[in-house]
Formats: sequence, structure tokens, C-alpha cells
Amino acid sequence: MSNKQKVNLAGLTLVGLKNLFSDLNEKPFRAAQVMKWIHQRGVTNIDFMSDISKDLRKRLFEVGEVRLPHVLNEFVSGDGSRKWIVEVASGSQVEMVYIPEGGRGTLCISSQAGCSLDCSFCATGKQGFDSNLSVAEIIGQLWWANKLLGNFDQSNPISISNVVMMGMGEPLLNFNNVIDSVNIMMEDAAYGLSKRKVTISTSGVVPAIKKMKGLTEVSIAVSLHAPNDKLRGQIMPINKRYSIAELLGSVKAYMGSLSDNRVPLIEYTLIKGVNDHRQHARDLAKLLVSFPCKINLIPFNTFESSNFERPSGSSITNFREILKKAGYTVTVRTTRADDISAACGQLVGGVTDRTQRSVRYKRKIDKSNESVKLVGKLATAAERI
Ligand code: SF4
Repeated sequence: MSNKQKVNLAGLTLVGLKNLFSDLNEKPFRAAQVMKWIHQRGVTNIDFMSDISKDLRKRLFEVGEVRLPHVLNEFVSGDGSRKWIVEVASGSQVEMVYIPEGGRGTLCISSQAGCSLDCSFCATGKQGFDSNLSVAEIIGQLWWANKLLGNFDQSNPISISNVVMMGMGEPLLNFNNVIDSVNIMMEDAAYGLSKRKVTISTSGVVPAIKKMKGLTEVSIAVSLHAPNDKLRGQIMPINKRYSIAELLGSVKAYMGSLSDNRVPLIEYTLIKGVNDHRQHARDLAKLLVSFPCKINLIPFNTFESSNFERPSGSSITNFREILKKAGYTVTVRTTRADDISAACGQLVGGVTDRTQRSVRYKRKIDKSNESVKLVGKLATAAERI
């Protein structure tokens, strides 16, 4: 059997592994053994899985292997955050970011190479879209972060307490692979993360949110960013397909299906002069009045080719205070890893853009640079006259 046809064990859920062992006429408990070797001990060589008999290892090797994406580069921020560039099978590069908080921390991982949506405040969207990541490429980011943080060999363990699917891509447009991946993250025989600490962040793919019920118990964050459909449609094209009412309705139904009383997180990127007025805050408070949630305000992080700006400190405070007075739990996301372009909304990687969107953006920037140069020349010429 050629390598290409082998099953990638790193991308299998516990159920998937059980099915594999059933096909090999083996007991289901083997699944948890293999899962522990890969995801708790960081072992990729089947031969090293010593609590499995030699004969079974040989048979497993004939049908399966562990393939993970490649980490190409690491950037370390002055605040201790780390960004890794990961190459996936398509040849594109995606980014993941680890943000430490004391001895623990949050890992922000990618679900797609690029993004087919085009939110106007997001650097990833400007890259266009290449491909969905496989389960092994998504879970492989968590695997690598554990490896590089020394968590497998306990050499320098730094706990990853939270995982957020807030990196590159819209997770729910890669539905099956993302659901399998978050379920592996929460699996006791793998990473054993709490369902409260694994979060899918979505821009609002309503049919996919409806499909989540019963398949996972992961937490959810909604990228809202505007208090009405008109403004949201201007900065997030997806709102033209699914209105805010449909989006909030589907999230409410999903939350109602969970076995505990968690609430979703509403993410609101504050952009100067666009959605940061006091009236926007009042409208947001009104919009969410019967939608139990927490609100996270994210001051816009600038990136090359963006026309937007971050609001002033006082605008952010005013916005937050209006929401707080209305009774909401509000946090303001501290900007982290800005010095390595790893702050929220800044991730770009290296995407083979199949949509040509990046080319169009580049043309637009070149054109506007040309106009700036022309205005400069005219001004100089005018000064000479
Ligand atoms: S914010 Fe999310 S959904 Fe929107 S373009 Fe960026 S990655 Fe895609």
C-alpha cells in the first residue's frame, strides 16, 4: 500500500479510531491507546506505541500513519506571545498564535487557508481563499503548539487552557473537519479540554450553526461587529445572506441545546468612525436585550492595505460604559502580539489565492499609491509655478 492511501491517524476521532480497529478485528479500547500516544505523548511513530503488541503495530502500520503539517517559522512577541507559520498540504501557509497568561494560555488556530468571506476589517479576508484544512491540519496546530511548548515531554510545560477557532478562515464553512477537530480537543483520551474552553468563532453561517446541535458541545463566539443589518452588511458581506435576527436566533437555539447554562460571546471590533459611536453602543444594548451573552470589544488592529483606524481610548471607554450600564458583562480585548502581526484580525499566512481577491486588492492599493504620488507631483509642480 502506498503512503498516500494510508489513513492519517492524527485526524481520526475516537469513534473513527474505534472503527479502524473494528476493521482490524481488534478491541475498541485500542482506539484510546493510540489516541493517547499521539495527542498526549506526542508520538508519531507507530513503532514507539509500546503498549500495543508488535503484531498489531505491524498491521496498523500497513493501513495507517501519523501525518502532521509542517511548522515553518516561529515569531516571539515582546509580550511572550508566539506566532507559528504552518504549511498545509495545499502548499499554503496558515498562522496560529499562542497567548500566554501566567503559566497557562490561549491558542488561536486556523481552520482554512485564507477565507472566502471578505470582512472589511480583516487581513485574512484580503488574502482570498485557497482550501479547507483537514482534521489533521487543524488538530495538528494544537499538537505542534504542545510540542513546541514542551508539554509532551514535560521539559518546559506551559499549559494550553483555551483553544479558540479565531485564526484564519470561517470555521463553519469547513464544518465536518472543524467539528471533528474540536471534539478531539475535548476528548479525554486526547487533549481533554473543557467544553467551556474550546470556542468556535463564526461570522454567522446560520445553516451550519443549526447543524451543530447534537454533534458537539463546544462554546460559540459570534462576530457581530455592528448593531444593525445595514451597517453589518457594509462591513461583513455574509450579513446579506443571513440577517442578524436569523444569526442570533440560531445561536440561541444552539445554546439551548447544551447541557449547561453557558452563554455565547459577542465579538465587536471597534472601528473609528464606523461602528464606535455612542448610538451604536445604545443600539447594541437594545439589540441584545433578550439574548443572554457576554460582550468582548476588540479595538481594531491595523494592517497593511486597511483604510480603517482604531478608535481613541475615550471612545472605547464610552462604548464599554454604555453597555455596562445596560447590564452587560463587557471586556475589552487587550491587544497582544501586535509587534509580530499576530493580533486579532492581522493573520495572513501565505495563501495561494484561488479567488483572485488578493490581486484585486493589490491593484486597488497600487492605484491609490499612484494617485498619492500624482497628487504629490502636482503639488510640487504647483509650488514651482
Ligand atoms: S473575520 Fe473571519 S470570516 Fe471574516 S474575512 Fe476574516 S477570517 Fe473570514
